[in-house]
Amino acid sequence: MNNNDTHLQNIVTGQYPIEEKSYQQEREARLMRWQLQREAQDLLPEERVAFCMRRIQASMVDVLYSPHRQLAHYQGLMRCGSVWVCPICAAKISEHRRSELEQAIANCIANGGTVYLVNDLKLPQVLP
Ligand SMILES: [Zn+2]
Repeated sequence: MNNNDTHLQNIVTGQYPIEEKSYQQEREARLMRWQLQREAQDLLPEERVAFCMRRIQASMVDVLYSPHRQLAHYQGLMRCGSVWVCPICAAKISEHRRSELEQAIANCIANGGTVYLVNDLKLPQVLP
C-alpha cells in the first residue's frame, strides 16, 4: 500500500481530518447561495433558474425542520436542477454525488479493490 492508497483509505473510513464548518459558517454559506441564485435569476430571466424555488410544484408547500441538523427547508417547490447556473441546486447535486462517490469507493475497498482518483486526465487525440 503506497501513500496515496493510505490517503484514500483514510478519507473513506472517515479517519482523514475533514474541516468542519461552524453553524455560523454554514448559515453564511447558505445565505450566500441564495443571494447568488437571486443574481442568476436577474441575469437569466428566461432560464429555469429564474423559477427555481419560486414556483409551486406540488399541491402545497411544506416547510420541514430537521432537529438533528437544525435546518429548515422547503418541500414542494420547483427546482431547476442546474449545476452550472444555480448555486442552490449545484450544492444539493454536488453533495448527492459526493455521497454516491464515497459509497462507491467504500464498496470498492471493502471488496478488495483499489481506487485511484485522477484529477486531470488528458488522452491524446487520435485522428483518422
Ligand atoms: Zn436551482
